[in-house]
Amino acid sequence: MPSPEPTSLLIKARWIIPVEPAQRVFENCALAISDGVIQAVVPQREAEKRFQADTTINLGHHVLLPGLVNAHSHAAMSLLRGYADDLPLKTWLEQHIWPAESRWLSEDFVRDGTGLAMAEMVKTGTTCFADMYYFGEQVAQAAQQARMRCHVAFSVLDFATPGGSGPDDYIRKGLALRDEYRNNDLIQVGFGPHAPYTLSDEPLRKIAMLANETDTAIHIHLHETAQEVADSIAKYGMRPLERLHKLGLLTPSTQCVHMTQINDSDTQLLRDSGAHVVHCPTANLKLASGFCPVHALQSAGINVALGTGGAASNNALDMFSELRLAALLAKGVSGDATALDAHAALRMATLDGARALGLDNTIGSLEVGKSADLIAVDLSHTGAQPVHQPASQLVYTASGQHVSHAWVAGRALMLSGQLQTLNERELTGKARWWQEQMK
Ligand SMILES: [Zn+2]
Repeated sequence: MPSPEPTSLLIKARWIIPVEPAQRVFENCALAISDGVIQAVVPQREAEKRFQADTTINLGHHVLLPGLVNAHSHAAMSLLRGYADDLPLKTWLEQHIWPAESRWLSEDFVRDGTGLAMAEMVKTGTTCFADMYYFGEQVAQAAQQARMRCHVAFSVLDFATPGGSGPDDYIRKGLALRDEYRNNDLIQVGFGPHAPYTLSDEPLRKIAMLANETDTAIHIHLHETAQEVADSIAKYGMRPLERLHKLGLLTPSTQCVHMTQINDSDTQLLRDSGAHVVHCPTANLKLASGFCPVHALQSAGINVALGTGGAASNNALDMFSELRLAALLAKGVSGDATALDAHAALRMATLDGARALGLDNTIGSLEVGKSADLIAVDLSHTGAQPVHQPASQLVYTASGQHVSHAWVAGRALMLSGQLQTLNERELTGKARWWQEQMK
């Protein structure tokens, strides 16, 4: 008999949903991790004979799946959770959020808010998030310390904020950050032009040129509301998507966030350019922005990822809530109950999200050779019984509260509900301190 192979971590679980191969559930299998990479997914009996593990974790009533990818957030805005609610986007932004940001935004605000958001995200199953905000250095440092995977999209706007004096300043700082993290295994940095309505043609053209030259991703709010599209037609004589296309911003590295207003020519532009859509169903509903036609986009071959947006417009960062809402909404909007089935919804929140961020060779599925970014969800609770279909249970009955474990590159971020790399007590204490300041 050959001697057992050494492995650093062996996780045995009742179910494993690898996402790729699609629509599959492995029962009573184990996942072996070595050097932060998935070494094997094999039946538990075989694993016991084949591997000599430093650590073995037995998860009897759990499902293991790839860590969720939150493809759009403004993490630090967790400190503005519930600050202004029940308002349309324009009023909410112009009369509440932007004034609050101009008063409170600072390096400390971003560090503390991002920490709070990461604690919430890890506890609810997110291991990778795309962030669009200011003071990206603070976001990158906080994510690196917490060992979370993060795509930092640095905001660019026509006007000054505490995060920069204007387009050139935002871009200069962002590119410096990008250079600093160029070879980082967890952090990547990209452009975050805020939206077509907050940027004139010149900085947008400059971003297109620089992103192309440096092979850097572009993350942008787009077609969020009907008003945005109408205003663009009035001002530029074309829809925002067409304007971005003419300015050279639509490429396979572009992440178009929201896209609630889509006609046939928009679909064609998205498909032909290879750009990705990031669907944020809760934020779209809460701001009464409209509905992203997820089923139609996917049917046209367009990749759709899932995001929460910031906690100021959600008001949670729980991707399981987002998953359930996305699956239900896809059916309601398309009038087709087979649209976005449970496995497809899980794929949207994992592998498709990774693809939108250019990370699908590294994460998003539990395949041999990929980074061990994964989570465990406990399905032993009463409301999940009986478990006929674990994927359905995850999408339609589970919530982020049922996530028990999380790993990134084989490193534990949460074990049995206890955060390992973030100090929850300290972070919630800081949030209460900000609450007092902002009274
Ligand atoms: Zn947003």
